[in-house]
Amino acid sequence: MGRLAAYGRVKRKKGQNMAIEKVGIVGAGQMGNGIAHVFALAGFEVLLNDIDGKALDKALATIGKNLDRQGSREKISQADRDAAMARISTTTDLTDLGPTDLVIEAATERETVKQQIFDALLPHLKPETILTSNTSSISITRLASRTDRPEKFMGFHFMNPVPVMQLVELIRGIATDKETYETLLGVVEKLGKTSASAEDFPAFIVNRILMPMINEAVYTLYEGVGNVRSIDESMKLGANHPMGPLELADFIGLDTCLAIMNVLHDGLADTKYRPCPLLTKYVEAGWLGRKSGRGFYDYRGETPVPTR
Ligand code: NAD
Repeated sequence: MGRLAAYGRVKRKKGQNMAIEKVGIVGAGQMGNGIAHVFALAGFEVLLNDIDGKALDKALATIGKNLDRQGSREKISQADRDAAMARISTTTDLTDLGPTDLVIEAATERETVKQQIFDALLPHLKPETILTSNTSSISITRLASRTDRPEKFMGFHFMNPVPVMQLVELIRGIATDKETYETLLGVVEKLGKTSASAEDFPAFIVNRILMPMINEAVYTLYEGVGNVRSIDESMKLGANHPMGPLELADFIGLDTCLAIMNVLHDGLADTKYRPCPLLTKYVEAGWLGRKSGRGFYDYRGETPVPTR
């Protein structure tokens, strides 16, 4: 199949990237707040948008708490913390993102949602603004093709939790130009993170490998091979994973996991990516993991309790 991806730091030639100062982030959920956190700490001006005003309040509170934690571990000073918080503004009006240099869409993993956001946003954006999506799996080329700037569109895939995880996947669509790619390489460098370039195929690199493992863990549960605790303990102690796959699924969000499996299943047309019916059932119940209080574990008490 040839070489699909080039890993590692890529040397960037000076002077080829455009200046990015103002960054707009759409979606203030677990990813959006983490992305806002790292951009503000790195000195970018951040405008965070969500359709839900409460999500914006929650995101600011989370960012403040996470910056405090970094302060208590002496990773940042009080002045860094205060300056980062001061660089973040919030809005429920998407059109306020018009004057930004870079937009990162980090809303719900549903293509129609992302499409509606781009449709509403594009008439207000400067022509040179780079538009990106933090999608875990949706085709960058397809998302880009429906905008007025496919050459300035890229996949900008952060890992959860953003302030902690070092990697950022950079995914070029078929039309993405060199300047856009090199500008984002520079942004990743400024964030102090490491980029990996992935070709635009369903779920890119990390989720192409990670999600089938999580889905297989759910099948293992569904078929009664193990229970929640034995599956997670087995992978932690037997494969040296820092988190068990079901615990990790809850952390990512079961709706996001299911959406990614559906993209793999549809996009690669291979039954090996069939989402486990038990995963679908949890999502249908609204048991989405940590963010909804219940998933493979119940988080509503003092300590998480397995739900199976
Ligand atoms: P989330 O459910 O925590 O947050 C999504 C946010 O988007 C919510 O606050 C929601 O109100 C908001 N939203 C929905 N429609 C909107 C609209 N039209 N305009 C503005 N905001 C809108 O989801 P998340 O886990 O933060 O995931 C967001 C994106 O990041 C998805 O594309 C997901 O695939 C990707 N991602 C997730 C992870 C992860 O581990 N959860 C990791 C990498 C990438």
